[in-house]
Amino acid sequence: MRCVVCSLALMALASAASAQTRFTTIVIDPGHGGFDRGGIPGQRVLEKNVNLDVALRLKPILEKAGYRVIMTRSTDIFVPLGSRVAIANSYPNAIFLCIHFNSASRSGASGIETYFYSTESAPLAASIHSAVVGGAPSGNRGVRRRGYFVLRRTTIPAVLVECGFLTNPTEAEFAQTTAYRQKLAQEIARGVVNRPTLASRTSYTNRSTNVDVGLQPFIDQRFVRESKARHRRQSSSKKKKSSSTAKKSSSTEKKDVSSEAQ
Ligand SMILES: [Zn+2]
Repeated sequence: MRCVVCSLALMALASAASAQTRFTTIVIDPGHGGFDRGGIPGQRVLEKNVNLDVALRLKPILEKAGYRVIMTRSTDIFVPLGSRVAIANSYPNAIFLCIHFNSASRSGASGIETYFYSTESAPLAASIHSAVVGGAPSGNRGVRRRGYFVLRRTTIPAVLVECGFLTNPTEAEFAQTTAYRQKLAQEIARGVVNRPTLASRTSYTNRSTNVDVGLQPFIDQRFVRESKARHRRQSSSKKKKSSSTAKKSSSTEKKDVSSEAQ
């Protein structure tokens, strides 16, 4: 009897894992567009443009890998967040990839970070993040769970990648390079293609793809690669920023400490 129960449990896990891997369509969402430039006021490199460029480079790579690709925008137009989510949710066997670049008032802020919300999105986020970080000269700011509108309202696995800071001179320089944007697209695609292995491995710890684990406390990983002294110096400003974020997020539900991600 126990073996039957075990077998049933294993079958359930296996089917949950394969359900995660069976997507054939990818909805790419280049952040911002039109009057929504992204980033912070006065930012020199327009986020909406580099987001779109990376997304347009990602599309043929994924198509070549056999996926059907849907774009929430292919030109410099404004698409409301609700419309982006509606597009994503109209493809139940798809995954949703939001492409963004980060910004901060502190020009020293740098690195790649990847966001997810639903438990079933975690393996995809981890896979994409490790691929992008592995192929980029930028630091690793970690994979984070956050209730951004486009992540929370989508019913399919959804991931938002922040491909570096346009307010950081070095990362902005890279982002303006065609070769680097192509490299980012290739790494994001690599993360998508590599995902099945990760999904089946982590499904045992995630238990179920349908369980909402609730909003986890925010763990700031921005300083993991910096020295302790620097951490101490910056922790007070971090606290200030975090409290202003809490205020902001209650009204807009999509603002970040340092990014304007949606
Ligand atoms: Zn953005």
